[in-house]
Amino acid sequence: MLKATCPSCLLDVAVSVGNGRPNIGQHVLCPDCRADLTIIWLYPITLGLSKSNDSDQAVASDEGMLIHDNL
Ligand SMILES: [Zn+2]
Repeated sequence: MLKATCPSCLLDVAVSVGNGRPNIGQHVLCPDCRADLTIIWLYPITLGLSKSNDSDQAVASDEGMLIHDNL
């Protein structure tokens, strides 16, 4: 089972993947703090908090792996 650390409560969150592989941008709900998390990197799997405030946070946006915003 794939696991990643919740950035909010630092719990190891099991990442369930329907088709066998996770995708960047996939939403994961932390079972402990109920934070709405998003997979922002795959190797290793890294979770980020979904946009919920106005702070200008820089998320993983390396070359060739752009996060697509809902414009
Ligand atoms: Zn959490």
